[in-house]
Amino acid sequence: MNEQYDVIVVGGGHAGTEAALAAARMGARTLLLTHNIETIGQMSCNPAIGGIGKGHLVKEIDAMGGLMAAAADRAGIHFRTLNARKGPAVRATRAQADRSLYRAAVRAAVETQPGLSVFQQSVDDLILQGGRVTGVVTQMGLRVNAASVVLTAGTFLAGRIHIGEHQREGGRAGDAPATTLAARLRELPLGVGRLKTGTPPRIDGRSIDYSVLEIQPGDEPRPVFSFLGSRDQHPRQVACHIARTNPRTHALIAEAMDRSPLFSGQIEGVGPRYCPSIEDKVVRFADRDSHQIFVEPEGLDTREIYPNGISTSLPFDVQLALVRSIRGFEQAHITRPGYAIEYDYFDPRGLAASLQSREITGLFLAGQVNGTTGYEEAAAQGLLAGVNAVLWQRGEPPWSPARHEAYLGVLIDDLITQGTLEPYRMFTSRAEYRLMLREDNADLRLTPVARRLGLIDDDRWAAFERKREAIEREQTRAYDTRLTPEDCRQGDLADRMGQIPVEPLRVAELLRRPGVSMRDLQAAGVYRCASEDEAVLEQVEIQAKYAGYIERQTAEVRRNLSQEGLEIPGDLDYAAVDGLSHEVRQKLSRHRPRTLGQASRISGVTPAAISLLLVHLRRRH
Ligand code: FAD
Repeated sequence: MNEQYDVIVVGGGHAGTEAALAAARMGARTLLLTHNIETIGQMSCNPAIGGIGKGHLVKEIDAMGGLMAAAADRAGIHFRTLNARKGPAVRATRAQADRSLYRAAVRAAVETQPGLSVFQQSVDDLILQGGRVTGVVTQMGLRVNAASVVLTAGTFLAGRIHIGEHQREGGRAGDAPATTLAARLRELPLGVGRLKTGTPPRIDGRSIDYSVLEIQPGDEPRPVFSFLGSRDQHPRQVACHIARTNPRTHALIAEAMDRSPLFSGQIEGVGPRYCPSIEDKVVRFADRDSHQIFVEPEGLDTREIYPNGISTSLPFDVQLALVRSIRGFEQAHITRPGYAIEYDYFDPRGLAASLQSREITGLFLAGQVNGTTGYEEAAAQGLLAGVNAVLWQRGEPPWSPARHEAYLGVLIDDLITQGTLEPYRMFTSRAEYRLMLREDNADLRLTPVARRLGLIDDDRWAAFERKREAIEREQTRAYDTRLTPEDCRQGDLADRMGQIPVEPLRVAELLRRPGVSMRDLQAAGVYRCASEDEAVLEQVEIQAKYAGYIERQTAEVRRNLSQEGLEIPGDLDYAAVDGLSHEVRQKLSRHRPRTLGQASRISGVTPAAISLLLVHLRRRH
């Protein structure tokens, strides 16, 4: 190919598509090179988007003009808000998707994006000039040049699939691995390791007895993923079900443990702690005699079922027996065996916060190759890498949000400072400022930044500004309006208020009371909301109810930021820092954190050690 691209993205999975779309939206001439155009946007495992921590990432991707939330709205067949009864910080949207509709939505977005071309070929090598990447070489020897390359090869690098004693090479079931590229990358100073993940057998839904399973309908009112989305975009909705393993299931697994590649030593890669296989669960939670299985449809036009919770790499005969030991699955027909996959990943500590390799300039890495697991984690990294590939090519400073600005910031900071020895997934507990990083305010946090970066078109920006202005108007009104004690006795308000105020109170203050909402005040005829938009009212209420906590967290951020960004010289001799333990010295010397904040998040580096380091740095300055 004679064309010179600004950005080449290798891989059409969740990281790759967001990277390519972001780069092209910013005006870069972008090429997406992937094994197979038919599998663009393919979900390798469970066709579900979101969940706790992950839903937050999806909303952030959406706020940055990314695709995942919009695709989930077009493909979601069962929506829920997890933690609905808990505080807004940990509430999370989750959608079970129709696998084909999701893939179609992603492909349509890729194919209609101006400035983005797609080419179906395996990439076998990078073109390097000195320590810089200048393009890629494909399987048929085609050389394609670009200023930067974003590598998002997922689980495909030297992928090895395990089903019991049977092993073979594969990128995921039905797809070839990227063996040549993996061998080439192993020669580069990228710090390669092995990880593992797994998937359950799929079942023909016609062979399941649903009458004995617990039904789990979607939520009403149905949540919507994208800030620009609507329920009208959702396809037909279906119910999920819940089944359970039992002592017989566990006994069958225990008896077959010597045939499990996980426990026989056949698999060397470390698996996801929070998404363990059923054989892992039986060993780790030996006192439990039952585990839940979410029986989730794979789509509207297929009878195939994804039994979420019994991921396994046990031999097929054991898979069949364990599935059939479950109530409701006695006659189950397995359509595809479960399996585990081992693959190469690269130590993310070798990356800058822009996801650019520290060793090879112009090379950006995103997704599962950085040691994460999950579509959402991959997509979020892809978007950030795509943006930074363009900024780098233009000679502009990189962009990466801080930990108090986005889950995306938490994800990147965790990866590049702590690295990971097991597949990393996002949780709300990883974010120390989670009250500020809610799903509901992702657009308020990030859309203005995305606009500045060139990711948000005029229509979306106008919609965002309308919303932001409506929130401000509603907040002003709630602050300016006072309700009298008499007003607070109207309708059922007295019950909701708890204590009736003794003098007129601002609506903004009344909203701090747990049982009081703007709709209640409106229904009682004592207040009229300026906006009819649920998202606007929700935002005003959340900001009023949690104002005290949010202010405290903001003050904490400010305090920490004054030290967080304090730079540590790259050549600092940690042996010269008085009082540090040998272990902490070793860790700091190995990680070489760039700031005090990064140093504080290295596991084993205690607050006391940070104080010693701070004293040392102040003395040097
Ligand atoms: P992928 O989605 O894997 O996409 C990689 C893309 O790169 C593909 O399009 C591929 O064709 C392309 N590609 C690779 N190499 C080349 C090359 N050399 N040239 C051209 N194209 C190339 N996540 C969970 O959260 N929970 C789970 O339980 C879970 N289980 C999983 C089980 C299995 C068996 C697998 C395979 C994955 C599982 N995942 C799970 C992980 C989830 O699928 C990934 O996290 C997610 O797909 C990663 O996205 P990605 O874009 O990084 O890579």
